[in-house]
Amino acid sequence: MTLIAENIDIIKKKIAAAAKRADRDPATINLVAVSKKQPIERVRAALDAGHRLFGENRVQDAVERWQDIKPDYPDVKLHFIGPLQTNKVKEAVAFFDCIETVDREKLADHLAAEMEKQGRSLPCFIEVNTGEEPQKAGVSPATLPDFLAYCRDKGLDIVGLMCIPPVDEPSALHFALLQKLAAENGLDHLSMGMSSDFEKAVSLGATYVRVGTALFGEREES
Ligand SMILES: *Cc1c(COP(=O)(O)O)cnc(C)c1O
Repeated sequence: MTLIAENIDIIKKKIAAAAKRADRDPATINLVAVSKKQPIERVRAALDAGHRLFGENRVQDAVERWQDIKPDYPDVKLHFIGPLQTNKVKEAVAFFDCIETVDREKLADHLAAEMEKQGRSLPCFIEVNTGEEPQKAGVSPATLPDFLAYCRDKGLDIVGLMCIPPVDEPSALHFALLQKLAAENGLDHLSMGMSSDFEKAVSLGATYVRVGTALFGEREES
């Protein structure tokens, strides 16, 4: 068994244990392996271990990385988890299976138009800036209901909410807020929790956890 396969196994067991403690069905929690900036051998090792759900935060990097691999693994699903510029929307819609970072009207407009054009209706998450940090992407909790209505009116298939908590605050507060917002707005899915806090996220209702370094090891800087 490779180290990556072992890591996947360990993380899945931790997810299952956290789910059990919270009286949740572990099968409702999906592990997004965040493969950004990871050496290709590690990605291959995850694929060899049977893993099929991955996250990338840059369109160009993801296309370079995955265009040769994806045809060999038709069941691979790629989630886009980074900031999305409108000039990358066409490629993102063509290449990804889910957009987790819908965060402004202009982006919603472009995504809706492009999905219509390509005949691809991708599930989307709205990114919420739970810490209301000025430099961070995401809609504020207060504007979420209006933004959700806007996205739906455009025809986007919004399935849930996503957040990246402030680094200097306990993430549990933000996970709890995201859980509350999803419940208030009738949304089923929550994408939250990373290497350091995915178990906490599971205990607060995450249905997708995004784990990079705990699964693959440290990233290559580029
Ligand atoms: C990089 C990244 C992750 C993974 O972070 P780790 O700490 O390596 O698990 C999760 N979510 C987003 C949005 C990221 O950009």
